[in-house]
Order: sequence, then C-alpha cells, then structure tokens
Amino acid sequence: MKPQMLKRLPERRALPTLSIVVPFYNEREVLPACVARLEQVLDTLELSVELVFVDDGSDDGSATLLAAMQPRGADLRLIRLTRNFGKEAAMSAGIAHARGEAVIVLDADLQDPPELIPEMIAQWRAGADVVQMQRRSRAGESWLKRSSAHAFYRLLARLSPAPIPLDTGDFRLMSRRAVDALLRLPERNRYMKGLYAWIGLPTAVLQYDRAARHAGRSKWRYTALAGLAMEGITSFSTAPLRLATLAGALTALAGGLYGLWIVAKALLFGDPAAGFPSLVALLALLGGMQLLGIGIVGEYVGKTYLEAKQRPLYLVQEERLILAGTRVTEWKARRHA
Ligand code: UDP
Ligand code: MG
Repeated sequence: MKPQMLKRLPERRALPTLSIVVPFYNEREVLPACVARLEQVLDTLELSVELVFVDDGSDDGSATLLAAMQPRGADLRLIRLTRNFGKEAAMSAGIAHARGEAVIVLDADLQDPPELIPEMIAQWRAGADVVQMQRRSRAGESWLKRSSAHAFYRLLARLSPAPIPLDTGDFRLMSRRAVDALLRLPERNRYMKGLYAWIGLPTAVLQYDRAARHAGRSKWRYTALAGLAMEGITSFSTAPLRLATLAGALTALAGGLYGLWIVAKALLFGDPAAGFPSLVALLALLGGMQLLGIGIVGEYVGKTYLEAKQRPLYLVQEERLILAGTRVTEWKARRHA
C-alpha cells in the first residue's frame, strides 16, 4: 500500500511529557502483552505519554500487528527502519524521534518491568537527568550469559575513563537535557551504555530484578554479544593498544635477555647445536603476539574507517502516528535520519 498523507491532521496537542521508546525485532509474540502492561501503568500516571515503537526490520508482521493497536491514553508512534540495523541503532532512532520531556527506553520482551516507570518518574522529578536501572538479578538467563555479562561489565568499568555503572542495561530514563546531549554525540559506532555515561549529568540509580523474557527467544547470539563487548571496549578505551605495546616490549626484552644468555652459554660451555623445539615455540609465541597486536590496531583502524564514511546510523522507511482516542493516522514515507 502506498503511504498517503491525510488532508488535515488534528491540531497537534502540546508535546508529551513522557516518551517511552521500545525497539523491537520480530517480537510478534510479546508486543500485545507489552502494550497491555504499558497501558496498565500509564493509566495510573496521569501524564501525557507517547509510545515510540521502533521496528528494527522485523519480518514476522510485528509492525502490522502494532499498527492495528490503539493504546488507550497514549499516542503511538511507529517508526519502521528499512532493515535490521541492530538494537543500538534502533534505540538511537527512537530517542531521536521521541519528543517528550523525559524519555524511557525499555525492551519489548517485558524483561524491563514497566511497573517501575512511576518510580523512575519520581527520581526525574526529584532532579535526576538520568535514572539508571541496575539489575539486582537476572531471571531466565543462562549461567554462561550471566557470568560473561558480569565479567564484561567489570572489565569495561576498569578500562573506561568515564564510569560505566555495573550491571545496567539500556533500561533507563533520560531528561530532555540528557537526550539532547546524547543526540549531539556524532559517532557512528554507538555503544550506548558508554555514551550515557559519557554525558555525565546528574544520575540516579534504581535497583530492579530483571524478569525472564515474556515469550520468544533472545535475539542475541554469543558471537553478537562478543562483538558488542569488543565494540564497548574499543569505543571507550585505547587501553588494548597500550597492552599490545606493553606485551611487545616485554617479549622483546625477554628475547634480548635470552639471546645474551645463549651467547654467554656458547662462550662458556661451547655450542652443541640444540634447542630447535624451543626455537619453534619462541617463533610461534612471537608470531602470535604480532598478529594480536596487528589485530588490535586493526580494530581501531576499522573504527576510524567506519566513522570516516559518515553514513547515517539508520534509515527510516516510514513513520506512523496513531493519536490516542482517535483512529487518525499520519504517514510519512521515506524520511531519512
Ligand atoms: N532488538 C532490536 N534489534 C535487534 C535485536 C534486538 O531492536 O537487532 C530488540 C528486541 O526486540 C528487544 C530488545 O532489543 O526488544 C532486547 O533484545 P533481546 O531480548 O533479544 O536481548 P536480551 O534481553 O537477551 O539481551
Ligand atoms: Mg530480552
């Protein structure tokens, strides 16, 4: 169907107080429950709210399902990206399109309980620009995922110059001031957790128990998580480069000392040509070290390359607005951001 503009839209009401940004990718099974839970919470809030759902290239009909919904008491803004750009890009799209005074990002799968929204709002009203949600526990996730996440967050906290709080995901509230600051950061490689920390505005931390996924499966595979971890580290720290230099220097020193020792040994005791196994071992060690060093440098060179291309983070295929209380929808086709 060709998108069409309505002749006249009803006069836009005042900007919403709260925007709730929900990136989703193939979440047909959870979207109805997600909207229903949000509605329940919104009923108690007495704020003007817009829901910004970002369809990150779903191909299971999630977007159509959502477009047919009409949440009570909130405008629904549906942003469809042209393909699957990944959660970080989808969140960026949602945050860029949100117009509220405060913006909350939460996952569609109900792992971030919407019931905490009132508490987050209270912290924001009390003056926090960022309200971070820290996981006290994670239900329904494997031991491997929990322990690797645990180790990663601690490693990152040590490496990064800006404190990146432990065990916080993307679930958080940001004030308009924080959102505007975030939108000003130009980088294409967006490791969002690091960016939130970098802006450094007054931050409150609330603890919560992370629920298990409502339905469906996690979209993250371990390889993707490892990629995100690498992204996180190289976006916020050049420590690995230093590590490569240090390892190189230490190996060179050890090699030099060993060389001296061989010369001394040959002079003192003569030289029965032995030691090929140790030679091979040494070669392998040095070769490995060199490749590691080059690989690390490559990570950063690759980053520079991606930044230099200046490509947009995502492309919007269409945008649909469903106003609360009416069935009027507005289409905007192919707006690129
Ligand atoms: N998501 C997305 N794009 C992707 C992958 C995931 O927008 O490429 C969304 C997904 O629909 C969900 C949220 O990001 O709303 C978190 O994803 P998931 O639950 O799969 O990750 P996990 O909770 O296991 O970290
Ligand atoms: Mg999840």
